[in-house]
Amino acid sequence: MPAPRRRPQRTCVACRTARDKRDLVRVVRMPSGEVVLDPSGRLAGRGAYLCADGSCWAMAVKKSAIERALSVALPPELRARLERADPQAVGGASDGA
Ligand SMILES: [Zn+2]
Repeated sequence: MPAPRRRPQRTCVACRTARDKRDLVRVVRMPSGEVVLDPSGRLAGRGAYLCADGSCWAMAVKKSAIERALSVALPPELRARLERADPQAVGGASDGA
């Protein structure tokens, strides 16, 4: 029986569920201080993770989980996006292409 391959796990800052990194979306505080969703997970900066399906994004806003994790204020537009829990918005700027 082959050993299960270890995948990187991260914990959602809102619901505290440990999941495969690919099932989470990264919110990153970039060195510039800007806070953005980082679906690629490759931006430089300090990251916090949320479930990619959006199920707990509104809770993350309510609990200020991201603010706490990153010690930063959420920009209003990101906050609104999280409250709408719209996973399609992740990656941004591609609607209406
Ligand atoms: Zn979650």
